[in-house]
Amino acid sequence: MQKIILILCLSLMLTSPAFAGVNVVATLPWIGSLAKEIGKEKVLVTILVKPTQDPHTVEAKPSMILAGRKADILMYNGLDLEIGYLPLIMESSKNPRIMPGRPGNFDCSKFVKVIDKHAHVERSMGDVHPLGNPHYHYSPSNIIRIVEGMTNALAEMDPANASFYRSNYKMFNAKFLERTKTWKLQSKNLTGNRYIAYHKLFEYLAAEFGFRIVAYVEPKPGIPPSAAHIEALIERMKATKPDGILTTSFYGKRESETISLKTGVKVVTVPADVGSMPGTDDWFSFMDKVVTSLQ
Ligand SMILES: [Zn+2]
Repeated sequence: MQKIILILCLSLMLTSPAFAGVNVVATLPWIGSLAKEIGKEKVLVTILVKPTQDPHTVEAKPSMILAGRKADILMYNGLDLEIGYLPLIMESSKNPRIMPGRPGNFDCSKFVKVIDKHAHVERSMGDVHPLGNPHYHYSPSNIIRIVEGMTNALAEMDPANASFYRSNYKMFNAKFLERTKTWKLQSKNLTGNRYIAYHKLFEYLAAEFGFRIVAYVEPKPGIPPSAAHIEALIERMKATKPDGILTTSFYGKRESETISLKTGVKVVTVPADVGSMPGTDDWFSFMDKVVTSLQ
């Protein structure tokens, strides 16, 4: 009898239908990482963009549309960072659950105090971020509000597990308070530092960790620098001696290294997203690496 029950159980497990929890589709690795922290085994998280991909230039793929079709909730960065692929995925997946205005449409930027908001849209003038700076995943003070919002969204979508999500949030928040204290201590010596950056990626980080970005290698976000622009920047850097050139492993590394050779100003490679460097498997370890990379 026991054997029969065991076989029955096994066959039930093997033929069990699709995952019964909440199907989360996250555009970027850091968003998926946060959803896993709160949802744990009650959610199945699919991440559309690889950590080594430049989030500005992602193109829609059939696998992304398939993921969108199955999603109970779509979590995304917003501020037009996903403009190149997300509208297409939403349209082609024909999934009413993830449409704007529905509980399954979760725009993380709704919880963010956005910086660099323009009074009028300037995309035509070369600024790829007319709605404001979208790179707030480096900003602890914004992340904690997003995670709280995520918790509420999951709790509303899956009320049976609401207390599970809320207790995971409590644990996340406790770890968050402890780590932010450590990061503040570790980055004390950055106060007043002046950096050059390839792209407008580090504005939130600078604001929260007390340093400044004084110039950019890109003349405008999304516009590659001309030789003349780089030459002028090199001359200025020789006179002003900034503390470093901030870049990521895929974004402007080559140009930054050339500038570094000509000026003697060091290149600081900051992880671009969760999983983009060894030892950055979740948002906390990613931020640990961000802070240590600046030392
Ligand atoms: Zn950008």
